[in-house]
Amino acid sequence: MSIEIQNTKAYYAPTKGRRYLSKQAAIRAEARAIIEKHVPSIKPCRCSPEYCGMCGDPGWSCETDQPERFARYMAMLTAALKSKMGQRGCEKRMERKHD
Ligand SMILES: [Zn+2]
Repeated sequence: MSIEIQNTKAYYAPTKGRRYLSKQAAIRAEARAIIEKHVPSIKPCRCSPEYCGMCGDPGWSCETDQPERFARYMAMLTAALKSKMGQRGCEKRMERKHD
């Protein structure tokens, strides 16, 4: 057994700044990153008696606290990202580059 080098197609999600091996995964990660930029999550307080007197602030995230809004954004963005990819024909262009 040895490690092989595999040349494979990857999908780059620019807002997220990562590559994915499936289009669906890239689209979902990109949509999630765009939502995070638009409505940033707030981390929960690291409560301690000295730090904040145990305020109990649970933080906030669109996904947890406004799930309907989050679902609406996800649907909108994944559809837009998918159709944008189709229009520009990035997949075809990429394939040609590797010929
Ligand atoms: Zn606190």
